[in-house]
Amino acid sequence: MLTFKTVNIITVLLLIILLLGYVLNWNPLWLIFPIITIWLILTALGSGLIGWNYHFKSVNSNPNTQKHQVAITFDDGPNPEFTPQVLALLKSFHAKATFFCIGKNIDQHPDLFKTIIEDGHTIGNHTYSHSNTFGFFGFTKVLTELQETNQSIKKHGGLHCKLYRPAFGVTNPNIRKAVKVLGLTSIGWNQRSFDTTNLSDVTILKRITKNLKKGDIILLHDSSAKTLRVLEQLLLFLQQQNLESVTIDSLCQLEAYA
Ligand SMILES: [Zn+2]
Repeated sequence: MLTFKTVNIITVLLLIILLLGYVLNWNPLWLIFPIITIWLILTALGSGLIGWNYHFKSVNSNPNTQKHQVAITFDDGPNPEFTPQVLALLKSFHAKATFFCIGKNIDQHPDLFKTIIEDGHTIGNHTYSHSNTFGFFGFTKVLTELQETNQSIKKHGGLHCKLYRPAFGVTNPNIRKAVKVLGLTSIGWNQRSFDTTNLSDVTILKRITKNLKKGDIILLHDSSAKTLRVLEQLLLFLQQQNLESVTIDSLCQLEAYA
């Protein structure tokens, strides 16, 4: 798969060749524009599609697992309205999951955050503010966001968090650097539900279950009634398929905490 580094090297080489060609009258100068356009398109796509591993590697599934297991992950909580219902549903199916929490939500709902841990689920870092412009933050700001969230996890849960789920699945060189400095493991997904969109329950469930197989990582959000309805159907489906829902560290044999 193409990475940011490889694309940059190829682009620079092509630009040098084209500039040299222009000086030597082999080709017109305008040929550099399609090259730059292709670089922009690839970089925009690579920054938005976590499965590409364009800026850095994320764990997006465990295709090598021999066990009949998948990992359900919930982003954006803890949410006082929906997280307790998600926890109750998981408990009734004896299912475990991973919650990638927003730092400010942890600080606002520390008891709910502790309940997630007490129920045996895994916790991960999902930035402090989950700002819509997170992808445009400079390195220091990104680092502060991730550090603050880890501090909240430590303060209210007593855990030294090692897992990071990029907000909106966006990656870039600043996020890469911050993840590296803090020694975090980036966790993506290979089954995106789009449960935060206007799609119907049926469509969302179908999207997840259509090609679902052992080792998959499913992305959901514990922030809506729709997700709750889909989750119940998904857990029933998993039961029928004899697939167990486990935490991400269990599925991918990772250390969730230091
Ligand atoms: Zn999110």
